[in-house]
Amino acid sequence: MSFYDPTKIEVLYDAASIEARCRQLGAQITADYQGRGELALVGVLRGSFPFIADLVRHIDLPIEIDFLGLSSYGERTESSGIVRMTQDLSEPVRGKHVLVVEDIVDTGLTMKYLLANLQTREPASVRVATLLHKPEGQRVEVPIDYIGFTIPNRFVVGYGLDFAGKLRNLPFIGVVVGDEPVPGLRL
Ligand code: 5GP
Repeated sequence: MSFYDPTKIEVLYDAASIEARCRQLGAQITADYQGRGELALVGVLRGSFPFIADLVRHIDLPIEIDFLGLSSYGERTESSGIVRMTQDLSEPVRGKHVLVVEDIVDTGLTMKYLLANLQTREPASVRVATLLHKPEGQRVEVPIDYIGFTIPNRFVVGYGLDFAGKLRNLPFIGVVVGDEPVPGLRL
């Protein structure tokens, strides 16, 4: 028994596939930043928390970790394009190499806003790692350096991604295929 109805959530990537991809990305990031100076990973809340937690354990470098909060969707499944900072970084990133860690890049509007904001803080460099990329949803050009999985234009949930504020704790990434994946939970 689970709190959700498994017949209404189709698994796209299971926990083992996500773990394997985090391992590969961690190795790639380790190689790319070796000997390059201070690296700060910046996780975008709330969705990136499982991804950054798993990713950093595969990065063999003395990194710093910070978070900031952004909100763009409200409770709907289409980007409003209006981005709000709900929480700022705890430390300055001036002179540091920054790697932004995001759950998903869809329209790109959130990332565009964030990159412009970070540039004003004079980091040594800024790169982007996203667990998921939906190229069909893209409305603005944003550079993405590390992509976990490229996915079709569907609304995904789990592993940090929410459905009406819930389902972030699913250990896999899935697509909701029916109404009310949890009794009483609707968008
Ligand atoms: P963008 O600004 O690129 O359209 O969207 C970025 C944010 O929208 C993500 O950080 C995420 O919070 C939310 N988002 C985009 N696509 C999805 C999706 O398929 N599922 C969920 N749960 N959130 C999404």
